[in-house]
Amino acid sequence: MTDVSRLPGALHHHWDWQLHAACRGADSSLFFHPPNERGDARAVREEHAKRICVRCPVRSACLRHSLETREKFGVWGGMGEEERRALLGPAHRELHAHASRAA
Ligand code: SF4
Repeated sequence: MTDVSRLPGALHHHWDWQLHAACRGADSSLFFHPPNERGDARAVREEHAKRICVRCPVRSACLRHSLETREKFGVWGGMGEEERRALLGPAHRELHAHASRAA
């Protein structure tokens, strides 16, 4: 079951930044990997997504949201999954590893 406890409430100001996202209308498969994607294919896809993020006016809000809500998947705020895990530190990596083993 999805844990929604870290998601902000339904108040619109928590989500308004998304209205200005450079990725609005873009193909979401550019930002989220398909099952079993590895190596060069993943690197190339993420690089394309990050090129959109570079010119995004709400990049900081997006990255903050992904870190606060512990988004495990996708490119957010110009950072990939591994980059965000590294930023969150060892405690989060342990939690992620435990969650992956349990899944
Ligand atoms: S930073 Fe990237 S993923 Fe986040 S809203 Fe902007 S374009 Fe979309």
